[in-house]
Amino acid sequence: MSSATLAIIGGGLVGASLALALQDAARQRGWHIVLIEPFAPGSVYQPSYDARSTALSYGSRLIYERLGLWQAIARRAEPIQQIHVSDRGRFGATRLLAMEEGVPALGYVAENAWLGHCLWQALDQQVVEWRCPTEVVTMQRLDHGYRLGLNDETSLDCGLAILADGGRSGLREQLGIGVRVRPYGQSALVANVSPLEAHRGQAFERFTDDGPMALLPLSDNRCALIWTRAAADAERLLRLDEKCFLGELQQVFGYRLGALQQVGARHLYPLSLVEAQEQVRPHLVVLGNAAHSLHPIAGQGYNLSLRDTLALAEVLSESTAPLGDFATLQRYLQRQTLDQQLTVGFSDQVTRLFSNAQPLLTAGRNLGLLGLDLLPPAKRWFARQAMGLGVRSL
Ligand SMILES: Cc1cc2nc3c(=O)[nH]c(=O)nc-3n(C[C@H](O)[C@H](O)[C@H](O)COP(=O)(O)OP(=O)(O)OC[C@H]3O[C@@H](n4cnc5c(N)ncnc54)[C@H](O)[C@@H]3O)c2cc1C
Repeated sequence: MSSATLAIIGGGLVGASLALALQDAARQRGWHIVLIEPFAPGSVYQPSYDARSTALSYGSRLIYERLGLWQAIARRAEPIQQIHVSDRGRFGATRLLAMEEGVPALGYVAENAWLGHCLWQALDQQVVEWRCPTEVVTMQRLDHGYRLGLNDETSLDCGLAILADGGRSGLREQLGIGVRVRPYGQSALVANVSPLEAHRGQAFERFTDDGPMALLPLSDNRCALIWTRAAADAERLLRLDEKCFLGELQQVFGYRLGALQQVGARHLYPLSLVEAQEQVRPHLVVLGNAAHSLHPIAGQGYNLSLRDTLALAEVLSESTAPLGDFATLQRYLQRQTLDQQLTVGFSDQVTRLFSNAQPLLTAGRNLGLLGLDLLPPAKRWFARQAMGLGVRSL
């Protein structure tokens, strides 16, 4: 048996970001952090046409600047200079411009594999011990923390356990933490496509009666496609041959970037809004997708989790109480509750409003998009939400 002051279960984007955000405090306070992850990160990054990516908001850039990682991430992050929001077959459209918002970019698109690589490379193994490839199979509550049972037949005792094992967290269930699930009845089809024309940093959010789609600018003039459709229709699109798939996509997206020429591996994600009913218990925090999984179309899920992560790291670093102290963990949650409610609400409402073919709603959203373009304060509010700057100043 071994012990740690703090164990992070899951070394995905959220778990690894928390480890990074806590490094300085750990050095100063003598904390021993253990990061447990079943899939070993490659020490060498290999670019791939098929890689999945994440849109980082401008707010997330500011967080990574603070953590000293932005320069590394920026080497392969494509800036979003403008976002074109439109409704297929209708008049309403609006354009958000980085210049108008007074920022160098509205956001950035980076491949998940690149983000993961940058994060793991930045971890100081003197402070953050990796247990990898290792999986946590059981969690047992102790008086002063948790005992984690690992799949290598060993166990680890810790004063604070951070559950960052993703949206399908089996451990959350094992601990009896309930979830509120609201299925969207849709799946997201994700792939990279290459357009004939240069994307010039443009991102497109396009709403159609069959579901919203986003096309985000990536390095090497690729675009990351997120296309939401009814689950059965998304399955059908997944199976189409490349030519037919590109033909259907072109029909829905139009020719804003010329002919679409190539598509990489396609992946499907069934979509639900999932929220854990408890995020903190004494000696335990549920973080990242394990705490809330959002619809991907508004690009808010990871950005919200990164703000949670920074807030948690700040509250833990400022507290003089022992790690795991319940009042400290509640303070973290209080600090993030408004941001979580607004962000979850924003992405849920936008998604439901724009996934609906009812005439009243389509007329309403048409007016909404027109209104956004005509009313600078409304457009500015929308842009600040999209940039991840809605609640707190970073
Ligand atoms: C199609 C799609 C597109 C998206 N696009 C965006 C976007 O543009 N912008 C945005 O902000 N968000 C986006 N998101 C959301 C974003 O992907 C998630 O918010 C983010 O991946 C959550 O990270 P996480 O570390 O919490 O979970 P995960 O990425 O799922 O990581 C969990 C980690 O835990 C590990 N693990 C699992 N079980 C155990 C165990 N028992 N023991 C130890 N480790 C374990 C796993 O191996 C994994 O590495 C998108 C989501 C989807 C589905």
